[in-house]
Amino acid sequence: MSAPWDAPAPETGSAARPNAAGLGRAELGALLAGLGEPAWRGKQVFSGLLRQRWTRWEQFTHLSKALRTRLEAEVDLAWPVLVQSQPSADGSTKHVFEMRDGRQIEGVHMPYEDRVTLCLSSQVGCAMGCTFCATGQMGIIRNLTAAEIVGQVVAMLNHHSHPQDRPVNLVFMGMGEPLHNFDHLMAAFATLTDPEGLAIPPRRITVSTSGLVSGIDRLGAFSRRPRLALSLNGTTDAHRSAIMPVNRVWNLEALAAALGRFPLQSGERVTLEYVLLKGVTDGMEDGRRLVAFARRFPAKVNLIPFNPHEGSGFEPPEEARISALCRLLSDAEVPVSVRRSRGQDVAGACGQLVRQPRRGS
Ligand code: SAH
Ligand code: SF4
Repeated sequence: MSAPWDAPAPETGSAARPNAAGLGRAELGALLAGLGEPAWRGKQVFSGLLRQRWTRWEQFTHLSKALRTRLEAEVDLAWPVLVQSQPSADGSTKHVFEMRDGRQIEGVHMPYEDRVTLCLSSQVGCAMGCTFCATGQMGIIRNLTAAEIVGQVVAMLNHHSHPQDRPVNLVFMGMGEPLHNFDHLMAAFATLTDPEGLAIPPRRITVSTSGLVSGIDRLGAFSRRPRLALSLNGTTDAHRSAIMPVNRVWNLEALAAALGRFPLQSGERVTLEYVLLKGVTDGMEDGRRLVAFARRFPAKVNLIPFNPHEGSGFEPPEEARISALCRLLSDAEVPVSVRRSRGQDVAGACGQLVRQPRRGS
């Protein structure tokens, strides 16, 4: 029997008009050339979309009224609409976006002293079915388009009046498995990193995967690509397969081999995300196996204490255990950090997306 992620995820269906945010600079140029416009017009419109973050054709006042009217007829400018924003006590904000088909996705804005990190969704739902993850319980509904991915960034930066010179980090750690939506992910990556647009450096973009080896290999073939994070979450095949069905297809050896052949740049490390589930993944023996796995290639470990959500059946680890595991890894000289999930009080933390906060919490 084939796994749910073997099949491509459903798409939105052909839109009547392309969305400008999903078109790269070259495609936009070609579209404008087709309307009889000079080549530089494409660059100008692209920069208006990404650099000025304009979201209505009437804002493009340097274009003639006649051209704006023609563009409006040919190209959609609807970003996913931001329908709800829930600020959390720690300064982060969870945003809900609604798309043309009424589906909703979530993104999280996390300001730090020297940068802003945006957590993005790549799909509506997810096919991977990890048992500890709220999104996984939804199943896969559909892929996001490149425009819907780029649109989350533009909408969040606009909402927070983001100054143009402030560094932005992007992490694909919201809803969905980004490598199961490979083509749209890479189209969005090209637009987000384009020097005529937001110009986000590729090293500031991280794609987190549950371990789709076919996708990891595809990503490794690109010389310009985002950084890679792998959600390890288990240190024996039995343990990992019990919580991540994908491990039954690509097990730990297959993952280690894929990471071993992944062409890292100098100084680059793969992030190994490791969710700590009390009594399931947080044993000291797990920690020792984690060290052994992380030593097989340049890696850093990110421990993620489980974010509880209703009905999951898992519990977060004890604080003392988090520090003990952290010490174990750092004593073994494996770079380690603990992700203190932001936005937990508004259900914006990893694996809680799409769940509403419990009443009174
Ligand atoms: N699908 C991708 C990216 C989205 S999930 C992936 O799995 O890597 C982003 C991260 O959140 C993953 O490392 C995942 O293991 C973690 N995660 C999922 N549910 C969680 C939860 N309830 N608590 C803590 N981390 C969780
Ligand atoms: Fe999908 Fe990632 Fe959740 Fe697994 S952890 S179900 S891959 S979103």
